[in-house]
Order: sequence, then C-alpha cells, then structure tokens
Amino acid sequence: MRSTVVTFPSGRVSGRSTIEGAVPVGDRHGLVVVETPFHPLDHAWPDQPADRGTLAGLPVLDCVTGAQSSTGEVFAGEDIPVRRGAEGWEWLVLHLTESPLPVGAEVELEVDAGFRAGLSAGHTACHLAALALNAVLADRWRKEPALDGLGRPDFDQAAIASSRIVPRGSVDVYRLGKSLRKKGFSAEGLDLAQLTWRVNEQLAAWVEAGAPVAVDVPGPELTARRTWRCSLPEGEASIPCGGTHVSTTAELGRVEVAFTLEEAALTMRTTCA
Ligand SMILES: [Zn+2]
Repeated sequence: MRSTVVTFPSGRVSGRSTIEGAVPVGDRHGLVVVETPFHPLDHAWPDQPADRGTLAGLPVLDCVTGAQSSTGEVFAGEDIPVRRGAEGWEWLVLHLTESPLPVGAEVELEVDAGFRAGLSAGHTACHLAALALNAVLADRWRKEPALDGLGRPDFDQAAIASSRIVPRGSVDVYRLGKSLRKKGFSAEGLDLAQLTWRVNEQLAAWVEAGAPVAVDVPGPELTARRTWRCSLPEGEASIPCGGTHVSTTAELGRVEVAFTLEEAALTMRTTCA
C-alpha cells in the first residue's frame, strides 16, 4: 500500500476512491483507500478526534493512523513504533468497519459534516486561545523563551501537557512545575479571574476582526508537515498542525475560556458559543 492521499486539510468532507487493502485492527477491518476526506486520530499527538461517517454506506466506527514498514507489516494507532512521518514507512488512514470490502472496489466516502464542522471550530478556537494565553502571560518570563508567531513568549509550547479538541471547544492542560520554572516562567500569584477576563477580551477582538484562517499543505500525504495560519491584526500567526479548521475567526461566534488550577496543572477549557 502507498501513503494515503488526504483531502481533509482543504476542508473536504466527501470523495470517491478505490479500496487498496485491509488490515485487521482488533476485531474490525481497517480499510485503506487511495484518497480520503477522513481525518484519523494522530498516534503521536492525538488532539483532534477521528471523523465519523460512512464508506460505501458502511459506518466508519473509528478512524486511526496506520504505518506500514518496508517489510509490509502494518501497525495501527498506539502500536506504531516510529515517530510520525518517519522515512521508509507508508502512512495510512485506516477506516475501521465491521465488514470487509474487496480490494479494487470503487467506494464513496462521506464524512459527518456537522461533527467535522464542530471539530474545525473547536480546533481554530484552541489555537487562538493558546495565542491569547501567550500574550496575557508574556510579562511572567524572566528568561527569553522561544517566541510564538506573534512574537510573544510561547507559554503554550513550553508548558503544554495535552490538548483535546471537542465539538466547538478544546481542553488544554499546562504543566506549571519545576521544569517550566527553570525555563524562566513564574506562576506566582496567578489570578485566574483576571487571566480569564484578559484572555477572553483578546479572543473577542480576534473574532471581531474576522481574521482569515488557512492550512498550508506542502504535500498530499497524511503526514505532510502542514501549518495553520491566521492573519490577525497583530500579524500572521502560524502553528504546525495536522487538523482541520474554519476559514475565518468570524465563524466562531463568541469564544471564551475558563481556567482551573490543580497541583501545578493549569487547565484551559475553550468554548465557542
Ligand atoms: Zn492544531
């Protein structure tokens, strides 16, 4: 099998393709097609959930990343032993179904567009919230850390522990422990109410600005190094990203965050109203 060509980065939710193979994944069939609109869960950074939908009318029960070694062995999801996009491997979208389909069959692929739209909004809001958080926390750094696309200290990149996209929202967990302190960040006296208010104010301004959002696609394959770009009033922000997005911040409605702080873990819940 050859690396799957993916059309979801440009926002596609349907397509027609040919079954190239099938691999067993648990008690399900992992169907591989030449080209798909389905976004699979990434094995290395599982932030955006898999798309839902149908393949040749069969429900796609889950959609995961597959990697085929040079000897032809296929690994799925967490069992993949190499990093995303490793050379010498074919990178596959595995559509998990209950019944098999013959290799060579022409099939229609339909993604649940409503569910996808919610995830795209949630993913764009997640990146905007991270940038707003970077801006508000910028004066808490004593050392010069890596900067984000807007020239602010990149708190998000330095402290992120996990990021999960949900329909019209996201949950991001940041670690405020010793290693972040060593990098030069101080969380002392952090006032969550004031933090919330200031991040929300920035988000409202960015939604109001109707900033265009795009995904740069350097190649058609699943593991191409794609980049999220947003032309904000302060400048163009860019973040490496394998997911899907809306096309302007104006589509998001009201974006708001809420914070909780527990044992040096700062959780940011972002929602689009
Ligand atoms: Zn992303």
